This record gives sequence, structure tokens and C-alpha cells, in this order.
Amino acid sequence: MTATLIDGKASAATLRARVAAHVTRLREENGLTPGLAVVLVGEDPASQVYVGAKGRQTVEVGMASFEHRLPADTAEADLLATIRALNADPKIHGILVQLPLPSHLDSDLVINAIDPAKDVDGFHISNVGLLGTGQKAMVPCTPLGCLMLLRDLHGTLAGMEAVVIGRSNIVGKPMASLLLGESCTVTIAHSRTRDLPAVVRRADIVIAAVGRPEMVPASWIKPGATVIDVGINRIPAADGKTRLVGDVDFAAVSAIAGAITPVPGGVGPMTIACLLANTLTACCRAHGLAEPEGLTA
Ligand code: NAD
Repeated sequence: MTATLIDGKASAATLRARVAAHVTRLREENGLTPGLAVVLVGEDPASQVYVGAKGRQTVEVGMASFEHRLPADTAEADLLATIRALNADPKIHGILVQLPLPSHLDSDLVINAIDPAKDVDGFHISNVGLLGTGQKAMVPCTPLGCLMLLRDLHGTLAGMEAVVIGRSNIVGKPMASLLLGESCTVTIAHSRTRDLPAVVRRADIVIAAVGRPEMVPASWIKPGATVIDVGINRIPAADGKTRLVGDVDFAAVSAIAGAITPVPGGVGPMTIACLLANTLTACCRAHGLAEPEGLTA
């Protein structure tokens, strides 16, 4: 392997330590404890694992964690009432509704019911608009984590050619907005892109956010490019169990890339760390206090 391994686990630990130090200061100097409420509807096993991890890490950095676990058949009106109560609660600075929601619930309606100032996932239409127009927004956690890794590695990204594979509202589109904000030349590629290999070969920075195991081979990568692998895919392993892989053929691509994130241990840990950073940012903004530097875009 020739590529530098981008250690998302270590970066996430550093970010959590910075958040924790600032949370301590807020408590001592301002008598404030940032609070994060996570709303989970139903019993999706993967969502339960994520929500458990979020709650644990929230407490570990000294914030208050509030979990609202609602039954799978919760009526939309009841979920909206829960969100209204959290919007009005001064102890809560961040609200996250775990997606996907059961199919009888309208995700857009539910997300847009969250107070944008408490929308720590950055999915509310107001935050999407603010980010898209280069204004101060709550920034979605996964792309924010990718941006932090890129800034740590390169310092400035200005002028770099970036290709984002995937155009979801959660990863691809906000990632492209952030890279544009860094003055990259940005291409968003997707399932209908013509000659994807040629498009990706232009890139100094490749962000793979598709959800297809190891679909990006070494032959698509410009030598020395930085490769950020957002994909999380579970595939059968030789021992009859399963293992996690990204959207990039890690073994082959690391022989040609300049730097690469592993899966697991790359983007994943940064996502939750950025959720905590966003909650701290929301708390500072709610109380008119200075935000710690470098915690957002
Ligand atoms: P999504 O399914 O909403 O979007 C996938 C995108 O990939 C679509 O825009 C589609 O156009 C594009 N696509 C599909 N097939 C393609 C192809 N053959 N060529 C090019 N583009 C293609 O997925 P998402 O929510 O953006 O998530 C993408 C991946 O990232 C998933 O594996 C998901 O699990 C992972 N993810 C990881 C984190 C994390 O914290 N690391 C967070 C969110 C998502």
C-alpha cells in the first residue's frame, strides 16, 4: 500500500475531546449543558444500534442525552406533537429523528417540523437552503465529517477537482455544496452518469457515496488522488459471517491513491462526532455565545 491511511477513528476521538473540553467550559462559565434529543420510531435493528451509540457518546462528552423511543405504529400527529414539545424545551439544543421512518410517516413533513436552529442533522429545508447559498447553516454530519478529514489532510482545497459519486440529500448533494464552498471544481456523478470511470479519473478528490460494495476499482483513480469512502456495505465473509466494506476496492485503490479512508474506521466515526459538534454549535448559537472554531463548515 502506498496511500496515506486517513484515520477517521483518531480524528473523531480528537474532535470528541475538543467538544468535551468546550462542554466543560460552558458548564463552568455559563451554567449550560448542551442537550441532544434523539427520536426513534419503530424497532429497526440498525437504527437501534446507531441510536444507542449516539446516546452513549453524547453522555461521554458531558452533554445531556434524551431518547424518545416510539412504537412503529405511532401516528404522524403524535410524532409531530413530540417534535413540537422538543422544539419548545430549552434543555434541548439538538433534535435528531432517526431515519428511515416507517412508511406511513412523511419524512419530509417530520424533518421540516424540527426547529431549524435545533436541526443537528442539517436536513431541514431552511438549512439545506442556507448551505446551498453559502450562509451559516447546520451542516449534515457525514459530509461535514468528510470535509474535516479533507481539511486536516490538505489545508486548503481551493482549485482541486472533486468528484462526488452519489446525489442523495443526506450525503452527495450537501457534500458537493461544501466542496464548492471550499472553491473546488465539483462534479456530482450518479447512476445515470455517462462514462463514470472517465469522470472519476479527473478527480483530485473522490467522494464515493453510493452503497455498492467495492464498485470503484483502481483503474478509475488518478494516481495520488484522495479517496473518501462513505459507503457502508455488509457482504458475506469467508468464515460464513459478514464483514463491512465500502464503495471502493480498498486493497487495489490504496496502491494508487495518495490518501484513502478505510471502512470501517474512516468516515463512520466522524459522523457521530460531528453530530456532537453540531449540538454544541446549536447550543452556543441559541445562547448567543462564541462558537468554538473549526467545528463547522
Ligand atoms: P442513497 O441510496 O440515498 O444514494 C445513492 C446514490 O448513489 C444515488 O444518488 C444514486 O444515483 C447513486 N448511484 C447508484 N448506483 C450508482 C452507480 N452504479 N453509479 C453511480 N452512482 C450510483 O444512499 P446514501 O444515503 O447517500 O448513502 C450512500 C452510502 O453511504 C450507503 O452505503 C450508506 O450506508 C452510506 N452512508 C454512510 C454514512 C456514514 O456515516 N459513513 C452515512 C450515510 C450514508
